[in-house]
Amino acid sequence: MKFLNASDESGLREECGVIGVFLKDEEKDAVPLIYRGLLSLQHRGQESAGIAAAKNKVIELRKGMGLVSEVFGQASLENVKGSAAIGHVRYSTAGASIIDNAQPFVSRFKLGSIAVAHNGTLTNADVVRELLEDSGIGFTSSSDSEVIINLIAKNYRKGLERALTDTIQFIKGSYALVVLTDDALVAARDPNGIRPLCLGALGDRGWIVASESCAIDEAGGALLRDVEPGEVVIINGEGLHSFTFSEKTTRAVCAFEFVYFARPDSIIDKVDVYGARIRAGKILARESPAPADLVIGVPDSGVPAAIGYGQALGVPYGLGIVKNKYIGRTFISPSQALREKAVLTKHNVIASEVRGKRVVIIDDSIVRGTTSKRLVAILRGAGAKEVHMRVCSPPVCCPCYFGIDTPHRKDLISNGASVQRVCQSIGADSLAFISVEGLLESLDGGPEAGYCLGCFTGEYPIPVPGEG
Ligand code: SF4
Repeated sequence: MKFLNASDESGLREECGVIGVFLKDEEKDAVPLIYRGLLSLQHRGQESAGIAAAKNKVIELRKGMGLVSEVFGQASLENVKGSAAIGHVRYSTAGASIIDNAQPFVSRFKLGSIAVAHNGTLTNADVVRELLEDSGIGFTSSSDSEVIINLIAKNYRKGLERALTDTIQFIKGSYALVVLTDDALVAARDPNGIRPLCLGALGDRGWIVASESCAIDEAGGALLRDVEPGEVVIINGEGLHSFTFSEKTTRAVCAFEFVYFARPDSIIDKVDVYGARIRAGKILARESPAPADLVIGVPDSGVPAAIGYGQALGVPYGLGIVKNKYIGRTFISPSQALREKAVLTKHNVIASEVRGKRVVIIDDSIVRGTTSKRLVAILRGAGAKEVHMRVCSPPVCCPCYFGIDTPHRKDLISNGASVQRVCQSIGADSLAFISVEGLLESLDGGPEAGYCLGCFTGEYPIPVPGEG
């Protein structure tokens, strides 16, 4: 099996967002709610967007490259309607920016139609793809989602529930799935619940499922609960029912969702993301206090932790760095030169705020080190007397195999390097990361909680070929 990552030109893995809406009244249109939900999931993927909707037993699909607002103008929204619908936003590097990989995927076959949107990565996609190809099934993309839809379609003659069970028992890896049939909406989460997926109610009008609760809020719904690890939820004209397809599940929610990916107004597996980031800052202050006159956060996800850090130490928090929000996340830019340029364009310092001060700067993570190095340099350039860096995730030293694009192991600055060495490399006066125990404490998920920490520890919740 071959794993690909951000700097591999031949294929990519991505972080995505999914959403599904089922309205009880067949005359109502779910698509405007999907559109609004996708707008609020835009941070999970900016490369492509798509919506599939079911009306009168026909599934219509619209998808395209770009932001949700670019793909769906008023005219294109008019062209896709239905009382049940799913949507997807996708994120990857430039090399994979092709419409073939945009989601949802739709399959029309003798017994009906289905559409699938997926967030995650299958660790056995190559094997399943080969088996399907051997049985005469063709593929039009390199997406894992097409593997899933073809498996469901192959088993569909057994009935929806059985087709889903058989499919899900065949696939391995991480997945938050939404599936649309002619008359039902399905949501499913992998046995470890690595990628988030939650369920909400739209009053008495119907139901909504989404990667993050911020999309439920945006659609005017109320968060009911998370889709449990290993659970399949089926919603149709008869109501909602669910079953668990996996006998023994160990929750292992991606810890990085809380540190970096998710929106701060989301609640994931009962943990509010903003609160977790504030707590992480406070714990970081306890573990690694820095001598400082000012605390600043790297926008956006470093800001709540910086507020918590400042509160814990009684050091003022200030807005020292401004981010240009219209530039994509830097760690996936295809070359080092482009990444450095992107960092320059992306952040600017408010010199009057930092001049002459000992500054502690809080970031969510250090991946390649490109951003940190530039930030330290521009803070010094603006007159900061000292620059101390604190990071509210442990050192990222291993790749992710579950749906997050990470660089090659050799490009991770913390791979095989001491904290002191990383500190020298980024040019800070001091550097400290939160401990793994501190990160877990910040997540405060209660006794049911369980987290994937693979990229920090190298210990993965699912066996990964080539890893331990
Ligand atoms: S390896 Fe890291 S990024 Fe990947 S799922 Fe686990 S915690 Fe999240």
